[in-house]
Amino acid sequence: MTDCIFCKIISGSIPAEILYENDKALAVLDINPIHYGHALILPKQHCTDFLSLPEESYQSVLQAAKVVTQALVDSLKLEGFNLFSNNGTIAGQSVFHFHLHITPRYRDDDIRFVLNLQKYSDGDLKRYGTMIRKFINPSAL
Ligand code: 5GP
Ligand code: ZN
Repeated sequence: MTDCIFCKIISGSIPAEILYENDKALAVLDINPIHYGHALILPKQHCTDFLSLPEESYQSVLQAAKVVTQALVDSLKLEGFNLFSNNGTIAGQSVFHFHLHITPRYRDDDIRFVLNLQKYSDGDLKRYGTMIRKFINPSAL
């Protein structure tokens, strides 16, 4: 994808602070970090979101995420971290090349994912389970 910023990083046409690379994934520092050390794991093959990530990239993307997370924990002496991915504009995705964020967390760092947690009403837990299970289809990936 010629107009994709992450594809440009992967091809080397724009610079990035590279942390790690394997056959199908690249790990770089995010230029606007939540905390210093905030890393991004990018599949080398362009895909817009999690659902379009090719199956042959799963292992390399997760391997890179684990290697880099361990390096963040060890180098920054982290007690915790968040690993997440925004998918779709309404979910906060701004670069439409799938990526995982890995960000350090610190005690009292005042970062909060504000969640208004709900409770299922009578029968709804089972109803949702039944509805979603009808669409579980591993062979469609
Ligand atoms: P999203 O909002 O799609 O979940 O995350 C995109 C991330 O990419 C943001 O955290 C943003 O700071 C980062 N980003 C955007 N442009 C660049 C860039 O040119 N280089 C790097 N290293 N990160 C970028
Ligand atoms: Zn791309």
